[in-house]
Amino acid sequence: YKKLPKMRVRHIYNAVGVEVDVDGTPKKREASLVRIAVLAKPEFPLLSVGLFALLFSSGSQIVAPLFFGLVIDAAQTSIAKLNRVVVIMLLIYGVGALASMIRAWMFELAGQRFVARLRKDVFTAIIKQEIGFFDETRTGELTNRLASDTQVVQNAVTVNISMLVRYTFQIIGSLVLMFLLSAKLTAVLLAVVPAIAVGAVQYGKFLKSLRKKFQDELADANTTAEESMSNIRTVRSFCGERKAVREYGEKIGKSFSLGRRIAVLQGVFQGGVNVMAFGAITCVLWYGGNLLYANTQDSSEGITAGVLTSFLLFTLNVAMGFAFVSALYGEFMQAVGASIRLFELLDREPKVNNQGLCRLEELRAEVAFDDVHFTYPARPGSEVLKGVSFKVDIGSMVALVGPSGGGKSTIVSLIERFYDTNQGNIILGGSNITTLDSDWFRHKIAIVSQEPVLFSCSIRDNITYGKEASIDEATSALDSESEYLVQEAIDRAMDGRTVLVIAHRLSTVKTAALVIVIDKGIIVEQGTHEDLLARNGVYRKLVLRQLTSENASLTSE
Ligand code: ADP
Repeated sequence: YKKLPKMRVRHIYNAVGVEVDVDGTPKKREASLVRIAVLAKPEFPLLSVGLFALLFSSGSQIVAPLFFGLVIDAAQTSIAKLNRVVVIMLLIYGVGALASMIRAWMFELAGQRFVARLRKDVFTAIIKQEIGFFDETRTGELTNRLASDTQVVQNAVTVNISMLVRYTFQIIGSLVLMFLLSAKLTAVLLAVVPAIAVGAVQYGKFLKSLRKKFQDELADANTTAEESMSNIRTVRSFCGERKAVREYGEKIGKSFSLGRRIAVLQGVFQGGVNVMAFGAITCVLWYGGNLLYANTQDSSEGITAGVLTSFLLFTLNVAMGFAFVSALYGEFMQAVGASIRLFELLDREPKVNNQGLCRLEELRAEVAFDDVHFTYPARPGSEVLKGVSFKVDIGSMVALVGPSGGGKSTIVSLIERFYDTNQGNIILGGSNITTLDSDWFRHKIAIVSQEPVLFSCSIRDNITYGKEASIDEATSALDSESEYLVQEAIDRAMDGRTVLVIAHRLSTVKTAALVIVIDKGIIVEQGTHEDLLARNGVYRKLVLRQLTSENASLTSE
C-alpha cells in the first residue's frame, strides 16, 4: 500500500466535495469512501468497460416489458407484424446477453484483482507491527480483517456499484417508458408508491437496529465460547464444562429472545409488504382495466391490452429496482465500516520501529542492560522488569535463573527488540539497541527454544526458516542420549559466541561465567555458581530444591 502524499489526497477530497473536519482531516465515513475509490483506481479501466457493457445489458432488460406488450398487440393484428416484433426482440436480447457476459466478467475480474492487492497490503501492514500489538490483538480478529473485511470492501467497489448503476438505470428507464406509455396510469402509481416506500424503509431501519443488537449479543456469546474452547485444558481440569455451558447458554438465551422478536416483526413486515404491493397493483389494474374498457368503446382515452401488460411488468421492474437499491445502502455502509477498520490497520505505524540504520562491523559483542524497566503493553498495570542491570562479556556465557514468571524470557524478548524498554538502555556491542538495524542484528542472533514452532511447510523449510538455521528443540524435552548429542551441537555452536541461557539444568549453569538470579523483575543475586552456592541465598535454595527433586525422580525410577 503506497501512501498518497497528503496534498494529493486533500485535492481529491476537495474535488469530490468531501466534508472536512476543523483540523482539515475529512470526516471518517466520506474519507473512507474516497480512499476506497483511490485504492480501486488501478481497476478503473476494467470497471469502465464493465459499466459500458452494463448500459447495454440493462437497456435490453429495461425494454423487455415493452416487447411483451407489443407481441400481445401484434398477435391481434397480423402474423407478419408478430414475426417482425419477435425478430427485433431476439436481436436486442442477443446484444443484451453478450453485454451481460462482458459486464459480469469485467466486474468479477476487477474485484479479484482489487481484493488480492488489498489483502497483500493489509497482511504487509499487519506483519510489520510490533510484538506488543499482537499481544493485545486477537489473531482471529486480524484474520477476519484479511478474509471478510477485504471481501466486503471488494463487493462495494464491484458488485454493489454495478447493482447500484443497474437498478438506478432500471428505475429511471422504466419510469420514463411508463410515462410515455400512459401518463395517467403512471400518475396513479406515483400517488400510491412513495407512501408505501417510506413506511417500508422506516420499518426496515427498525428491524435493522434489532438485528444489530442481535449480532452484538451473538458476538458476546461467541467470545465466551472461544475463551472456553481455547482454554479447554484449564476448563477440563477444573471440571468447568457445566459452568461454561451455562454461561454460553445464558448469552445465547439473550440473543434468542431478540431473535424471537425479530421473527414476529419479520412476519409482520413481509405480510405488510405483500398487502401494500398487491394493493398498488390492484389500483393500477383497476384503473388500467377502466382504460382498457374505454378502448373497446373506441374512446381516444383508452389503452390496449398490450400496453396494460407492459405497464404492469414495468411496475414490477421499478418495485424490484427500489428493493435492490435500498438494500445496497446497508451494504455500502457495511463496506465503510470494514474499510475504516482496514485503513486503521494500513495506517498504523509500529510502535517499535525497525528503522534503526546502524550496522556494526561485527556483532561479536557484549550485551549490557542498564537499569532497564519494562511493562508489557498488554498489561499496563504490572512492571515486569524493575531496574535490571547486567553485562554479558564478549564470547562468554551467562545463565539466567530464577523462579518462573521472574522475567527471564522477557529479557530475551527485549534483546530481540520485540519491545522497547520503558526506561533504561540495552547496549549491544557499545551501541544502543534502538540505533541498530534490527533486521540485521536479529540475523546475528540464534535462538534455541524449548518450544519448537512448526510452520505448515516441509520439515526442510522449517529447519531452514530464517536464513540462519536455528535448532526447532532444546534439551529439556529429549531423552538423555539425544540430549547429549544436541547439547554437544549447541556447545559447538556456542564456542566463541556471546551466550545467554535460561537454564533449568544445573549442569549447564555450572559452566556459566556468570549466573544471574532474577525474581519478580529484580536481580536478586549474581556471581559464579560457586560464589552463589557459598552465599546461602535464593540460588542455593533453587539448587538444593532441584537436587532433591532429581533425587526423588531417580529413586522413583
Ligand atoms: P520467566 O521467563 O522468568 O518465567 P517471563 O519473562 O516469561 O518470566 O514473565 C515475566 C512476567 O511477565 C510474568 O508475570 C508473565 O506473566 C508476564 N508476561 C510474559 N509475557 C507477557 C506478555 N506477552 N504480555 C503480558 N505479560 C507477559
